[in-house]
Amino acid sequence: MKTTDDWRKYIKAAGLALLLAAGSMPTAYAEHSGSESLGLNFSEPPKTGQHSPVDQGQTVKKQKKVAVIIDDFGNGQGGTEEMLSMPIKLTVAIMPFLPTTRSDAELAHQKGHDVIVHMPMEPKQGNPKWLGPGAITSSMSDEEVRRKVEEAIDNVPYAVGMNNHMGSKITGDERIMSIVLKVCQERGLFFIDSKTNYHSVVGKIAVNMGMPPVANHIFLDDLHTTSHISKQLQAVEQFANEHDNCVTIGHVGTQGKKTAEVLRSGTASMQSRVTFVGISDLVRDIWGWQPSPILPSNNN
Ligand SMILES: [Zn+2]
Repeated sequence: MKTTDDWRKYIKAAGLALLLAAGSMPTAYAEHSGSESLGLNFSEPPKTGQHSPVDQGQTVKKQKKVAVIIDDFGNGQGGTEEMLSMPIKLTVAIMPFLPTTRSDAELAHQKGHDVIVHMPMEPKQGNPKWLGPGAITSSMSDEEVRRKVEEAIDNVPYAVGMNNHMGSKITGDERIMSIVLKVCQERGLFFIDSKTNYHSVVGKIAVNMGMPPVANHIFLDDLHTTSHISKQLQAVEQFANEHDNCVTIGHVGTQGKKTAEVLRSGTASMQSRVTFVGISDLVRDIWGWQPSPILPSNNN
């Protein structure tokens, strides 16, 4: 068991490696809202395995871990049922205040998936209609931002974390993201940077606050073709092989059924080589994250 000090040092070191890597490697990004285009990201995750098989004097082969996050639940979008019945553990990102927000959260939890809040945030470009209700915009006061985050967490039962829906503008805003992460921390949630903005400040703020700087590495369905989604899934496996783990994001929506189909068949063949985990498993294993809410949360 790590002490809090050890844990903070580890987070600092891991986060620094991540930020340095992110700053020195090429990346492509784009905003999204189900139909918007997304790109690859190459930020470096810290290597897992503080307790490697070598340390333990065993010859067990370490399994690479992959966390698949599916965004844009809450509105009965295409592929919702197919995703929720997926035979691997997923992380289900649910938008607040929508017709199926609660029922999607309940079903996802029942089926053993991780639930996170998919928090709508203002993009640099894009149609404001794609944002959905309860969105955070750059014109809001500190108090308004805090209230939006609190209300969203209250609206999505079983949430253990949060990621951003769109948000290329907001995730580059230090004032606003500091408040978002602070509220998450108070409620025992971690924050996953969806990486819709290459110049996101989220990783840096998370490290400073002693929170896990977890971020998306690869978007699965930025192009809506079976061949592209399959190719991205292969990129996920390769990334996991090189870095021990990979966080990837797909979507329900117009391409949702297609993404689900490729995921179902692709992950079946990958299962002998990688382990599919929830994002909460990953932040616990890599960063030793333990929620310590100081305010009540509705996540259990
Ligand atoms: Zn989204």
